[in-house]
Amino acid sequence: MSTKLKTIICLLRNDLRYHDNEVLHWAHLNADFVIPLYCLDPRHYSGTWHYSFPKTGPHRLKFLLQTLHDLKDSLKSVGSELVVSRGEPEKVITNLISQLGKENVKAVALQQEATREETDVERAVEKSCQVPVHKVWGSTLYHKEDIPFRIPQLPNVFTEFRKRTENQSRVRPTLSMPSRLKPLPTGVDPGYIPTMEEYGMKEPAQDPRSAFPYGGGERQALARIQHYFWDHDYIASYKETRNGLIGPDYSTKFSSWLALGCLSPRKIYEEIKRYEKERKTNQSTYWVIFELLWRDYFKFVALKFGDRLFYLSGLLGKHREWQENQKLFDAWREGKTGVPFVDANMRELATTGFMSNRGRQNVASFLTKDLKLDWRLGAEWFEHLLIDHDVCSNYGNWLYCAGVGTDPRPARKFNMVKQGLDYDAQGDYIRSWIPELQAIKGGAIHTPWALSSSMLMKCEVTLGHTYPMPVVKAPEWAKHIRTQERGKSGRGPEQRQQTRGVDFYFSSSSQKYKK
Ligand code: FAD
Repeated sequence: MSTKLKTIICLLRNDLRYHDNEVLHWAHLNADFVIPLYCLDPRHYSGTWHYSFPKTGPHRLKFLLQTLHDLKDSLKSVGSELVVSRGEPEKVITNLISQLGKENVKAVALQQEATREETDVERAVEKSCQVPVHKVWGSTLYHKEDIPFRIPQLPNVFTEFRKRTENQSRVRPTLSMPSRLKPLPTGVDPGYIPTMEEYGMKEPAQDPRSAFPYGGGERQALARIQHYFWDHDYIASYKETRNGLIGPDYSTKFSSWLALGCLSPRKIYEEIKRYEKERKTNQSTYWVIFELLWRDYFKFVALKFGDRLFYLSGLLGKHREWQENQKLFDAWREGKTGVPFVDANMRELATTGFMSNRGRQNVASFLTKDLKLDWRLGAEWFEHLLIDHDVCSNYGNWLYCAGVGTDPRPARKFNMVKQGLDYDAQGDYIRSWIPELQAIKGGAIHTPWALSSSMLMKCEVTLGHTYPMPVVKAPEWAKHIRTQERGKSGRGPEQRQQTRGVDFYFSSSSQKYKK
């Protein structure tokens, strides 16, 4: 064991990269030895807060383990090593400090998070480790200290936040990292990266339809910038393609790497600025920055509102009547609602761990505004499945979609049929995820219940048997229904049966929310 010389322990959580890593950078400048540490915190593998879904599902675990391998390789290439331990960070760090000798440990360094469970860890580390804890803010594009508001005064409307931040703040440059990082002290066991099986999970098979067929780690993340910006110039048409549903290139797909910190948002920003200088500046190049500002905004919203992020009544304490209905929720999560645009998206999520932004907005609107189910069911189900799960973005967006967050138009409701036809006019997306409807041609696939029985028979669809009847039908869908016979918008047989109000096919026990 090395003595006299000082060690800094870097607790890495959602900053799993070497480039632009402020925790490692600071430790390197301030210590003789640096220990990059990742703890597989058992709390991440327990149940979600209200509904106890397994917090980390197989898609995200796979991505995380790949990320750890990648980071280990990166750190080895600069003369360091990733120490991996299974346990709560506060306990692992306390043990490590007693092993090293408290007098040999100068500090623990970590990147701050915004939400309760994560900040509880920070407090527990501070309380138990008995050495100074150096905290940095590094997860957003604009630094918390650089935005033109104190957190309690953060505007509740995104546009105001964005305009003033863009006008009055600047993005900090990325840090230049050392080519050799200070080494580990001798005698520290680097541990090992577990397998999925050790977590009782099987590696999910790669589905050829996946819009996110990538692995974890900063090398893949940086390769994605190269691909999306430089090799194919996709960024130059991002604004036109970003609402796509099929394939990897309609949007940047940066979110999963951003969530674990394999990619620094400032690195993306610098690459966009370089692209604009060397190739092209247009609305699309700006729009990626615009979207990253949404990500920032939800982090700051989480800081401002604290635990309200997880309240049924949302950020501003809006009391609404929510339904409880297990059957409806099961239909939603299994992609068996009988509403093809919802089902295709939910099946994509379950199969691949990814769903487009367009899909997310729609299935969230459907759950909260058509089915009127507790929005946290959806948020926690997403938390379980999404590779790119980020507490602030996930809960912030769910609140927004449910009308209990920061949306200035909280009654906004998506029309599943119109959205399906607008963004998947020919139904190709539906056909790829709902094979049982494959024979229905064109946009009519979005409303199978409106097809005549002869057409359904021809397409080998028996509603309620091979594919469900819709669990609900909203009246506003009617004017967008297409029937295959006409090939364009028109009144189908189902419309004539439509009554006023929403039609539920499962009886729903309406209950007042209890919190
Ligand atoms: P792009 O369209 O290429 O956007 C670039 C980046 O901007 C994204 O990587 C992301 O970091 C950021 N961004 C874009 N849209 C949003 C947004 N609405 N809110 C916050 N940041 C945004 N995003 C997550 O990263 N993690 C989540 O857990 C998450 N949950 C969501 C839940 C719901 C109900 C909804 C409606 C959206 C959610 N989003 C979440 C936001 C958004 O859907 C994803 O960031 C985006 O689809 C990821 O694909 P992309 O990287 O190709 O995005």
